[in-house]
Amino acid sequence: MTLADVSAPQKKVRVLPADLVNKIAAGEVIERPASVVKELVENALDAGATRIEITAGAGGRTIRVADNGIGMAPDDLERAFLNHATSKLLDEADLFALRTLGFRGEALASIAAISRLTAISRTAQASVGTRLEFPDSSSVPPLKSDVGAAVGTSIAVDELFFNTPARLKFLKRPQTELAHLEEVVQTLALSRPDVAFTLVINGQSAFSTRGDGQLKAILAALYRLDAKAQDALIFAPPIQEPLGKQSSDAPDAPDVPDTPDTYSLEALLASPAAQSLPGVFRAGKKPWHLFANGRAIRCSVMQRAIESAYQSLIPEGRYPLVALRLTLPPGQIDVNVHPTKKEVRYADPQRVFTVVRHTLRRALEAVAPQMLFALPPRPEGLLALDARQQEARPMPALTVQWPLLPSLSEPVSASHAGAVTHQPSVLSGSALVEEPDQGLAVAGSETFPDWRVIGQLFNTYILLETRQGLMVVDQHIASERALFEMLTLRVQNAEVACQQVLSGVPLPLTPTQIALLTTYQPTLAALGFSYTLDAAAGHLILSAYPSLYPDRQHEPPTQWLMQLLTTLEAQEGQALINLGQDLLIATLACHTAVRAGDALTTPQMAQLVRDWLACQLPWSCPHGRPIAHTIRSDELNRFFDRSSLPVNAFG
Ligand code: ADP
Ligand code: MG
Repeated sequence: MTLADVSAPQKKVRVLPADLVNKIAAGEVIERPASVVKELVENALDAGATRIEITAGAGGRTIRVADNGIGMAPDDLERAFLNHATSKLLDEADLFALRTLGFRGEALASIAAISRLTAISRTAQASVGTRLEFPDSSSVPPLKSDVGAAVGTSIAVDELFFNTPARLKFLKRPQTELAHLEEVVQTLALSRPDVAFTLVINGQSAFSTRGDGQLKAILAALYRLDAKAQDALIFAPPIQEPLGKQSSDAPDAPDVPDTPDTYSLEALLASPAAQSLPGVFRAGKKPWHLFANGRAIRCSVMQRAIESAYQSLIPEGRYPLVALRLTLPPGQIDVNVHPTKKEVRYADPQRVFTVVRHTLRRALEAVAPQMLFALPPRPEGLLALDARQQEARPMPALTVQWPLLPSLSEPVSASHAGAVTHQPSVLSGSALVEEPDQGLAVAGSETFPDWRVIGQLFNTYILLETRQGLMVVDQHIASERALFEMLTLRVQNAEVACQQVLSGVPLPLTPTQIALLTTYQPTLAALGFSYTLDAAAGHLILSAYPSLYPDRQHEPPTQWLMQLLTTLEAQEGQALINLGQDLLIATLACHTAVRAGDALTTPQMAQLVRDWLACQLPWSCPHGRPIAHTIRSDELNRFFDRSSLPVNAFG
C-alpha cells in the first residue's frame, strides 16, 4: 500500500470565498456573545464616546451598543465593514505604539459575517445619519439609507451565530453567556471611570456607572460594598515615576518622540486593617483589576508586585481587592501578543514591578497610623479561628525584665550601627546576664496622645483606652510584629546586634541540618548568629546569638536556631534565598516575642505598645494575624443605652 492510497482524494487549490474567510476570522475574534460586546464597546471608546449604552437579551444572541462618539461618515461606515479595515493603524510604527484599543480592523467584518447586523452612524458634520443593513449573504451588498440619528454610532446585532451552527452549539446556557457579558462590561467600565456605562439585560438595568471618574464608586457597585468597606479602600494617587532609567533590553520598536518616558500608576487597594470586611478581602479568585493604558490586561508582573507589597501583612489565601491603572509610553508595552489582546509584554518588566510595588507599599505605609485607630470590629467567626491558633501552652507567669526591646522608635544607636556589639553572657543555667543600659525608661506616666494603658487581661491582652473606645492588643502578636520590623531593619542596615556565648555546648545535628546551616550561614550571620560547624562530628557550637529581649528564658538561643532549622527544612526545595530571609526573621520574631501568658507591668506594656506603634505596618503579625481589636465607645453606649460619654482622658 502506498502513501497515496491512504491520503484524501486530491482536490484543487482554490481561494476561499470572502464570506468563508470572514467566518473563519470571526471564530478567532468572536468566541461568544461577550466578545461581541467587548469589540463594540472598545470601538465606542476609541471613537471618544463619553456615554455608552449596552443592551443584551436572548442569552446574548441579541446585542445593541450605542455611543455618543465621533461617528462615521457614510462611506467610512461602509468601509468599516470590509476585512482589515481600520482607521487606527497607518503603518508598522503605529503597531508598536498603540493608543487605541482596536487595531486589527477585523471586528465589524467578523460580527457582520455571523449575525444579522444593522449599523447607524452620524458625524457632527452630517445633518442626517446613515443606516447600513446587512443581508444574510455577504455576496449581496448592504442596504444603505438615510436616517434621523444623534451624533454617534449604534450597532444592532441579532441572531448571533445563526449561520455558524458549530458555534451556536457550543454556547452555554443563556444565564452563563449573559454573566460573561456582564463581566466584560464591568471590566470595561472599570478601565474607564470617566465614561458613563449603562447595561440593560433582558429589559432590566444590570449595571450603570456615572462617568465621573470615581473608580471607587464603580468598585463599590460591582462588589456591593457598604460604606465601611468603601472606607477600607485606600486610594493611591497617581505617581509619576521619574524620567531616567532607560531599559537596555527594549525591543527595537520605533521610538515615540513626543512621549516623555514616564510611568504613572493610580491604585485603589484594600487596607490590611480591614481583613474581616466581606467584599474587601476574598478567598479564592483574586479580585485584582489590572489595566495598562486603559486596557484590561492579565499581567503576572503586576500580580507578583501586588503579592510582594502585601507580603507579611495578610494571611496566605486571602486576597485584597485591588485595582491598578498603569499609564506608560505606548512604545514600552506590546499588546499585540494575543488575538483577544489580553496578554501583554513590557519593554522593561522590572520597572513595572518596581513602580507597582513601590506605589502600593507607600500607600499601605501612609495609612498605617490612621487605620490602626479606626480598626473595624471583627466578626465572631474570626475570633473563634484566632482562639484555635493561639498557642495553648501552659505558661508560668513570667516577668519580663526591662527593657522589652531596644526601642524601635529611637534612631539606631551609635554603638550598634555598622558594628558587631558583643555583650558577654552565659548560656548555661538560667542566668543570662545582660546590662539593662539600653533601656529607655518610659518617663513618668503611661499616657500618650492617642492611648492610655488600662491593664492586662488573661496575661495575654493589653487593654488601652483610645479616643475610639477600648482597644484590645494581643501582646504576643504586637511584640512579634515589632521584633520582625526591628530585625528586618537590622539586616537591611547590616547592623548586627548580638551576644556572645562564652562556653558553648556542642549541639548534635543531622547532615541535612548541617548542609542548611552552611547554605544559610550568611543570612543567619546577618541576624546575629555565629557558630562553628563540625561536619565530621555532626555538631555545632554556638558562639553568638542575636540580642533581642534580654533574659528571655522560655527557650535558650540554641533552641531558636533549631526552630529556624525546622522552618528551613519545611521550606526546602522551594526556598529562594531572599524569601528565606523574611521567613527566618518571622520565625525568630515569633519564637522570641513576648508570649501569651507573660505577666507584664504597666511600663512594660506601654513600652511594648510604643514599639509596636512605631512599626511601619502595625496591623498584623508577619503571618498576617490581626493584632488589635477596638470595641468602640458607641457600641458600648448603645449596649448600655447611654447617649454620650462624660469628658474622658482624651476629651
Ligand atoms: P478596529 O477597531 O480594529 O479598527 P473594527 O472592525 O472594530 O476594527 O472597526 C473598524 C473601523 O470602524 C474602526 O477603525 C473605526 O474607524 C470605525 N468604527 C468602528 N466602530 C466605531 C464607532 N462606534 N464609532 C466610530 N467609528 C467606529
Ligand atoms: Mg475594533
